[in-house]
Amino acid sequence: MSQARAGLSPPYPRVVPCRHCGLVVLRDIDGRWIHASLSYACRDGTGAVAGTTAEPAALPPAPPARA
Ligand SMILES: [Zn+2]
Repeated sequence: MSQARAGLSPPYPRVVPCRHCGLVVLRDIDGRWIHASLSYACRDGTGAVAGTTAEPAALPPAPPARA
């Protein structure tokens, strides 16, 4: 009756902060960037929509370009 889940790894091991609001962003199942809060739109400190959408501050290494 153990609930331990040793060895369980998250589906998105690589997360980066949003370049607009600093919130952690990750990729959704469609490959779009989304905030960890599950909102595509950035929000400022008061919770108001900032008019920008989730975008990583530093893009992960791009795959080699296909010739
Ligand atoms: Zn953002």
